[in-house]
This record gives sequence, structure tokens and C-alpha cells, in this order.
Amino acid sequence: MKIKSIQSFIISDTMEETFYFSQWEYSKREICIVKITSDTGQVGWREGYGPAAIVKAGIDFLTPFVLDQNPMETETVWSIMYRRTADFARRGILVSSISAIDVALWDLKGKILDAPVHQLLGGKKRDFITAYATGMYFTDSEDLTMKMSKEAEQYVEWGYQAMKMKVGLGVRQDIEHVRAVRNAIGPNIKLMIDANHAYNFREAFELARALEPYSISWFEEPLSPEYYAQSAELRQRTSIPIASGECEDLRFGFHTLLSSKAVDIAQPDICGCGGLTEAKRIAVLASVHGVEVIPHTWGSGIAIAVACHFVANLDILPGRLNTPDCYLEHDRTENSLREELVCTEMVVKNGRIEVSDAPGLGFEMKEDMLEKFKIDSQPISHSVVQ
Ligand SMILES: [Mg+2]
Repeated sequence: MKIKSIQSFIISDTMEETFYFSQWEYSKREICIVKITSDTGQVGWREGYGPAAIVKAGIDFLTPFVLDQNPMETETVWSIMYRRTADFARRGILVSSISAIDVALWDLKGKILDAPVHQLLGGKKRDFITAYATGMYFTDSEDLTMKMSKEAEQYVEWGYQAMKMKVGLGVRQDIEHVRAVRNAIGPNIKLMIDANHAYNFREAFELARALEPYSISWFEEPLSPEYYAQSAELRQRTSIPIASGECEDLRFGFHTLLSSKAVDIAQPDICGCGGLTEAKRIAVLASVHGVEVIPHTWGSGIAIAVACHFVANLDILPGRLNTPDCYLEHDRTENSLREELVCTEMVVKNGRIEVSDAPGLGFEMKEDMLEKFKIDSQPISHSVVQ
């Protein structure tokens, strides 16, 4: 069996309302989708995390080395891609390109074997996953505090038991927003905050201490991802758990994060950290350190599907009779690509996702929607390995 073709597509959609987080604004969605076809005619899909045109360039670069390989041998293909890129990009966007190809191969392998990816990863350890709503971004609203509170109430009405809001606008504004949201949702809903590494140590510490009375389940990326020692110190000085990892790549990046004792919760993005092959290794590494893994998830319905399979397979240590909930990030911001591109059984109902046993990643690509959103396509048909 051989990999016959790798096609990548850039798809884009302009949003109706611009929103912001601590680093920049979002006014459109743009992602790179990869389609891998075997010589038996089966197809695997995946998207890459990060700037679409650069992810696509990386996929195009890797394609000649991957064509004609056996799609069942995901680790072998992963090693080939890593060896071809490690001299130039041990971290960063080429790892996203590796991730896209890797996960598409897992989808393809599942379709070939008529088995769900969670089974190929080692087994489904839970039938339901708790989704937490990600939203409450910044907008140009005249009363942002009120807008965030109303949005939070909406998530509770929809059945979510956990949600994450943005901070990083300024310590005083953040405190006002969090206080209002906590008042709106009451004491029994889990609330997380995410600064997207907006703060220096002094600011992050000030915010964390001020928010300790509001029962914050984790403080995500309070500091620059480069500052491992400061993150470890912040962990020691606040009772709020510290989460980070969406900017880390490969098991080697997570080794630095974990051995620095910088986090309570590790958050690999499966589309960016090296794919499912590497995310499983990262989960093993985190278990050695006794650190919880809750993946970062952003993008289309494909990203949600792969996170479901990964979380369904996650090992929870320590084991116990009443196992704690496992969480999956469920972005609720406006995104037509997330809602319209794929058909999947993994829908969120009352804040929970029932894990699908459909083959592969368990979704069908709506190719007419792919055509609708597509802005660029360059199939790579050469099969000569350089
Ligand atoms: Mg985040």
C-alpha cells in the first residue's frame, strides 16, 4: 500500500464581526487543509495550525519525501519528515506541516482498517468528554463587561459546565471582566482565564492574586512561553493552577516545559505540536511528571474531531473508581469553517461530546463546502523522492 497523492488547500472566510485577544484581531478565518489519498483510493484529511500559506508551503516541501511511503506506517513517515526538517526548524511552522500530514495519515489508516482513531491509539477509555466553551473575546462593544457576562450566561443556557474567557487587556479591566462573569454564571460553573502571554511577571502575579477569590480553574499563558522559570515561580506564588503549551512543539519542547515545573496543565495543540504521533508521546511524558494534559484546540471541525479521539484515549493518573471529567476545548467564536466544512457525529450536547466509533477521525468532508471556501489549490503530483 502506498501514499499516492497529497493535496493541500487554503480555505478562507471573512467574519461578520471582528474580535480581539491580547495579541491581535481576527476578522477572517484562514486554514490549510491537507488531503492524502492512498493507491487503494481511500482518503485522509487534516488541517494545520498556524498561518495557512506557510503551513501549505511546508506540506509542499515535505510531499516528495512522503509520497510512495506506506500510509499504515505513521511513525516511519513521521521520522522521515522530522529528519528532513530538523536541521532548519526544530520548532515552529514546519512542525505544523508535519502535524497536518501525520494526522491525515491517522485518519487514512483508520479508514483503511475501518476502525476509529481512538482504537488505533490504544483504545477508548471514556465514552463522553466534557466540552468547555472558549469565548468571551474582546470586541468594540461599548460595554464589554456586560457583553462578556451575557455571553457567559448564554453558554450556561446551552448546557456548558465550564468555560474560558480572555484576559490580557490590562489588569484592572481583566479583574472587572472576571468579577462580572463569575457573578453572571454563579459559583458552580468552572471558569478559566487565558492571557495569551500578554503579561510580565509583576502583572501576571498581580492579576492572579486578585482573581484567587473567584475560583479560577486555570490561568492559561500568563507569561511569555519563553519564561519557564518565571512560570514556575508564579505557580509557587498563586493558588490558581497554571496552564500552557499551545506554543510548544514536539516532546522536546514539552520536556523543557515539564522539567521546569512551569505548569499544572500541559496544552499541546495536536495540529501544531507534531501530530497525533507526537501528541501521544507528549502525553506519556506529561504522565511521568504527573501533569494533566488538556489539548489546545482551534480551527475547523477536523481539529475538534482529532482532539476527541486523543482525549478519548488519554490515560488518567492516578486511576480511581470515579474518574474525573476529561476536557476538550470548544471554541464558540464565529467560524463558518468550523460549522460548515465537515459532517461529524461528534456534536456537543449539554456540554458533553459522545465519542464516535466511526472509522478514522469520524467525519466526512463536505467537498462542495471546501470548494466554496477554497482560495488556492496546488495538487502535488510528482513522486520522485529527492
Ligand atoms: Mg490559549
